[in-house]
Amino acid sequence: MKTLILGGTREARDLAAIASGEQGFDVVSSLAGRVRDPLLPVGAVRVGGFGGVDGLREWLVANEIEAVVDATHPFAGIISAHVAAAAADLPLVHLRRPSWSEQPGDRWIRVPDLPTAAKTVAAQGNRVFLTIGRQGVGVFAGLTRPWFLIRAIDPPEVTLPPKHELLLARGPFTVADESRLLADRRIDLLVTKDSGGDQTDAKLTAARSAGLPVVMVDRPPLPEGAVVLENVAQVWDWLRSAAEQSG
Ligand code: NAP
Repeated sequence: MKTLILGGTREARDLAAIASGEQGFDVVSSLAGRVRDPLLPVGAVRVGGFGGVDGLREWLVANEIEAVVDATHPFAGIISAHVAAAAADLPLVHLRRPSWSEQPGDRWIRVPDLPTAAKTVAAQGNRVFLTIGRQGVGVFAGLTRPWFLIRAIDPPEVTLPPKHELLLARGPFTVADESRLLADRRIDLLVTKDSGGDQTDAKLTAARSAGLPVVMVDRPPLPEGAVVLENVAQVWDWLRSAAEQSG
């Protein structure tokens, strides 16, 4: 079964590694091309946008795709909406790792989006650790009072807030490293997206231990009626039964 995996996540790479080795599956992974030196999935890979819903629909037809797995990051809301529209006639599943959940000792401030996160920072942040990736950092550019520690894999290509330090690093990070960072930079507020998973959650444990508030940005919604599974094993089962049904 010719399968497209929309990727850019560890789950997408894990799924590609499983499916690429299986008889009866012909898998191609797709990356947006945002990261300069991406971790590449096993097997065939294409890189770059499709050109909106119409471009994606054409690409699916031209490449005779029979099933699609949207294994993009929970905050990649546009491509998830695009694929729901473009692959409406195909078996399609969205792989979404569970959200993070608050634990005793956490001081989370849940906000619906980045602009609301910026308002919260303006109101109560002095030394702010911004761990939202490099996209979206521009929303904080107008905040001239707080100092920011901005962590991203590649340098942001947008205007940054005037007082900041840029830290280029790729997770996973340890709790000890995160705790040291919070203490060294005298952080008093952490801002993160609710990415979920265990690759980048050490900062939450460190913030809890330090008693720091965390501005937690909620995920964008998935398209209505979307089929959603939360881990690679479930999606692999789903793919195998889709292959059986397609005969
Ligand atoms: P997005 O806002 O949902 O999508 C913007 C545009 O990027 C889409 O319209 C599409 O362009 C292109 N695109 C996105 N994902 C693609 C993919 N897997 N293959 C081909 N084209 C793709 O996406 P984003 O938030 O910029 O994320 C881009 C990529 O980075 C995704 O693969 C995602 O899994 C990964 N990622 C994102 C985050 C995050 O926080 N957003 C974090 C880690 C990894 P066209 O309209 O031209 O098709």
